[in-house]
Amino acid sequence: MRPFKYVRADDPRAAASAVAANPRAKFLAGGTNLLDLMKEDVERPDELVDLTRLPQLAEIRAAGGGVSLGALAKNADTANHPLIRQNYPLLTQAIVAGASAQLRNMATNGGNLLQRTRCMYFYDPATPCNKREPGTGCSALRGLNRMHAILGWSEQCVATYPGDMANALYALDAVVRVRGGDGAERTIPIQQFHRLPEDAPHRDSTLAHGELIVSIDLPPSPFARNSHYLKVRDRASYAFALVAVAAGLEMEGGTIRDSRVVMGSVAHKPWRSEEAEAVLAGAPATEASFTRAAEAALADARPLEHNGYKVELAKRAVVRALMRAARLA
Ligand SMILES: Cc1cc2nc3c(=O)[nH]c(=O)nc-3n(C[C@H](O)[C@H](O)[C@H](O)COP(=O)(O)OP(=O)(O)OC[C@H]3O[C@@H](n4cnc5c(N)ncnc54)[C@H](O)[C@@H]3O)c2cc1C
Ligand code: SF4
Repeated sequence: MRPFKYVRADDPRAAASAVAANPRAKFLAGGTNLLDLMKEDVERPDELVDLTRLPQLAEIRAAGGGVSLGALAKNADTANHPLIRQNYPLLTQAIVAGASAQLRNMATNGGNLLQRTRCMYFYDPATPCNKREPGTGCSALRGLNRMHAILGWSEQCVATYPGDMANALYALDAVVRVRGGDGAERTIPIQQFHRLPEDAPHRDSTLAHGELIVSIDLPPSPFARNSHYLKVRDRASYAFALVAVAAGLEMEGGTIRDSRVVMGSVAHKPWRSEEAEAVLAGAPATEASFTRAAEAALADARPLEHNGYKVELAKRAVVRALMRAARLA
C-alpha cells in the first residue's frame, strides 16, 4: 500500500471541505471496499478523511412521514431497525442478502451506495480498464464477461454495479442528501445518483468530488405489504448477484395499482424497468401479467459473449420476485 495522510473528521462540514480541497483525498467510512482497493493498488488516495467519529451521521430516525437513514449508520443496524423491518421490509431483505454478517457490521449506508464494480479486470492493474485508467480500453468487452452487463452498457465499459441495498432504494424512491465542500446541501433522487458508463466509465455517480453523503431519505412506501427481494448467485451466501430483483406492488383487491421493478447486477446501475411497471399498471396480479412484465423488462437486453444466460435468468427472476411480492409463491 502507498503512504497516505490520515485525518479524523470531527464535523461533517470540515470533512467535506477537507476532501474538496484535495483532488486526491477520499472519505473513509467502514473501509470494507476502499481499503481493499488500496491494497490492490486500484485506488490511490494520498489522504483519507475518516468519517467514523461523526455520530450525527449515524442516526436512523422517523422524518417526513418516512425514515431518514444516516450515511454512517451501519448496514446491520439499518436492516434490523424496527422502522425499517416494519415499513420497508424490502430494504431489510436486500441488505441481509449482501456480504456477510461481519461485513454488514462494518459497512455503512453511504459507503454501500458508492461501492465499486467487482469486474475482475478492474481489480487487476496489469490489465487495460477504462474505469481504472481512462483511455486504456475495456478488457471485459471481448474477454471473460459472464458476470457483466446486459443492459445500458457502452463499448467503453460493460461492468455492473454489484450492490444489493441500492436496488431496494431505487424501488423505494429514496433521495440522497449531500453536502458540498462549501457547506451547501442538495438532494439527489436515487434514480439520478448512479451513472451509465457512456464515455466516462470512471465516474460511477453524479456526486462531485468532496460531496459528502449525509443521509438517505425514504418517503412513506405503499409497497410494505407486497414486496420481495430476490438474489440469484453462484453460492447460497457471501457472493455477489448474477441477477437480483427488487419488486414492490401496490394492490387494490386483486388488481395492481402501482409497482416497482428494479433489476440488479444487469447494468452499470440498478435498472428500474418502467416498461415492466407500465405492463403491470391496472393488470390482475397473475403469473401471466408478471411474465408479460418480465418480457418487457428484458426487451432491450444486449448480452455479451459469455452472459447470454442472464437474459432468461433475469426474466425468470422478475416473475419469481413478483409472484412472491403478490404472495402467490
Ligand atoms: C467479501 C465481500 C463481499 C461483499 N458482498 C456484497 C454483497 O453481496 N452485496 C453488497 O451489496 N455488497 C457486498 N459487499 C460490499 C460491501 O457491502 C461494501 O464494501 C460496503 O457496503 C461499503 O461500505 P463502507 O462503509 O465499508 O465503505 P468504504 O469502503 O469506507 O467506502 C466506499 C466508498 O464510498 C465513499 N464514501 C463512504 N462514505 C461516504 C459518504 N458518507 N459520503 C461520500 N462518500 C462516501 C468512500 O470514499 C469510498 O470511495 C461485499 C464486500 C466484501 C469485501
Ligand atoms: S467492464 Fe469496465 S471495469 Fe471492467 S474492464 Fe471494462 S472498463 Fe474496466
